[in-house]
Amino acid sequence: MADAPNIAPAKTPGRKKLFIKTYGCQMNVYDSGRMADVLAPLGYAPTDRPDDADMVILNTCHIREKAAEKVFSDLGRLRALKTAKADMLIAVAGCVAQAEGAEIMARAPYVDIVLGPQTYHRLPEMVARTARAKNDPAAGQKGVLDTEFPAEPKFDHLPAPKADGPTAFLSIQEGCDKFCTFCVVPYTRGAEYSRPAADILREARGLVAGGAAEITLLGQNVNAYHGEGARGLGSLIRALAEIDGLARIRYTTSHPRDMDDDLIKAHGDVPQLMPFLHLPVQSGSDKILASMNRGHTRDDYRRIVDKLRDARADMALSSDFITGYPGEADRDFDDTMELINEIGFVQSFSFKYSPRPGTPAALMKPQVPDDVKTARLHLLQQVLDIHLRNFNKDCVGRTFDVLLTGSGRYPGQLVGRSPYLQAVHVMADPKHIGTIVPLAIVSVEAYSLGAVWAEDSFGRISCGEPVPTSPGNALAPVVSA
Ligand code: SF4
Repeated sequence: MADAPNIAPAKTPGRKKLFIKTYGCQMNVYDSGRMADVLAPLGYAPTDRPDDADMVILNTCHIREKAAEKVFSDLGRLRALKTAKADMLIAVAGCVAQAEGAEIMARAPYVDIVLGPQTYHRLPEMVARTARAKNDPAAGQKGVLDTEFPAEPKFDHLPAPKADGPTAFLSIQEGCDKFCTFCVVPYTRGAEYSRPAADILREARGLVAGGAAEITLLGQNVNAYHGEGARGLGSLIRALAEIDGLARIRYTTSHPRDMDDDLIKAHGDVPQLMPFLHLPVQSGSDKILASMNRGHTRDDYRRIVDKLRDARADMALSSDFITGYPGEADRDFDDTMELINEIGFVQSFSFKYSPRPGTPAALMKPQVPDDVKTARLHLLQQVLDIHLRNFNKDCVGRTFDVLLTGSGRYPGQLVGRSPYLQAVHVMADPKHIGTIVPLAIVSVEAYSLGAVWAEDSFGRISCGEPVPTSPGNALAPVVSA
């Protein structure tokens, strides 16, 4: 690694424009924010138009099918922009960059920077190296490729993030040691690393001081958290719950193997911890779970859910599912459907299995024919959708504390989040944005809820009571999030 050059902060911040396209999960959304943070001192301010940008970053994800092809197709479009604007910098970041960095450099030589998820704190020096290379063609450097897993944790070199509204993400853990046979994350994000608790608490206090009322803790295996100064995620959550003004805590994404008793107990005794958990199971078949190297059985999963519901009766769960994993027979798929009906997931992400180069499952036999994968996926999604709709319907007539996060689509309408992460719409004064208010749920759309103010001349409506109507409580059109 070359020595870091001295980079003088720009004299006129915001002079240059930065466009970041983020693919994939909340970890990538968080990383994109942090890349913007490290580039701000160089004068880069965000723009939402790539054709207006001096620098474009594609922050990629390798989870979805044909991820690399989608990146190359976006790069093709950016090439045309760069032809018209020779000084534009193009960077490819994230998991596709980590896995296929050399190929990106070879196939798209107009890309200036390729960086992995562990090196974005070095972006300023990469930008400077690129500028040096442009000014000195004799140096012969065409682009910067940095996909190392550096010994120094990147978090030590990042500026403290600022809150951007009432909800915020906070990355506490990265990487994965589980090596599920279908997944590239252990190869692209590296080994599990947990940030020290003191750093997380400091960052959380800063976010709350900046206006965040809800923080979602992020990690590829967030509940494998074992950072210095905490005895696991349960202990970290208890420490975070002491922060004045932090009203809500969530965490994602969890692995069933790391749902220890202390964390489950925290769901029962930390009121700030929301009663909604994304806990991927992937399959309900023990044979497939073993082949996936998940390290748990379907009964283990059931027991965890039972314990969570014992700790907190109103817990709701969401999950990830894969259909057509190699060797999945009808019987295995039936097991998955049975588990879905038994648990009653209220949200989900489901996909057809698609092989990722370099993963063990890509070489397994037999691969399931695509039409079978598709048919199973449709069936599974139909059932999951019924569970979601039933759950939403059951919310009508209940009162939820809703964190109002911003304006809705219609004049006078605000949108917020229920404890279960449902979008809730209500007519209300914008002064309430950022506050948590009791709202009575009065209608349901496919993926959102309509509400009225629960605190009115009728007094506080408690959960399950019928909702009185009054002229001032006219219901706005409900839109999906
Ligand atoms: S636990 Fe499995 S699916 Fe999740 S990131 Fe690790 S390897 Fe991938």
